[in-house]
Amino acid sequence: MTIRLQTCAGCGARQYPERDLCRVCLADELRLVDDHGRGRLIAETKLHRSLDPAFASELPLRIGTVALEAGVRLIAFLAPGAAPGDTVVLRAARRGEQTIFIAEKEQRE
Ligand SMILES: [Zn+2]
Repeated sequence: MTIRLQTCAGCGARQYPERDLCRVCLADELRLVDDHGRGRLIAETKLHRSLDPAFASELPLRIGTVALEAGVRLIAFLAPGAAPGDTVVLRAARRGEQTIFIAEKEQRE
């Protein structure tokens, strides 16, 4: 599943999470657009506690901040092998009622 980012029809800015207005120009004409999800992992940490029972059996979880090429920073779950400084690609997945992002290290050929 690719990721989708809210995009402004007026200035083209992308944003996450979704908002009622564009974060740059305050326009209200926003639509969801597919994004390749490529970016750089800039920090990581381990999550040892969660209030969501869907994650309880997977603790501790590695999460990190990803700076997308689209100009958005967001928190994602980290696949094994992804480390700060790596180029990663996000994919969306369903976990219970939620859509989550998983960052995987980009495979170079
Ligand atoms: Zn805008």
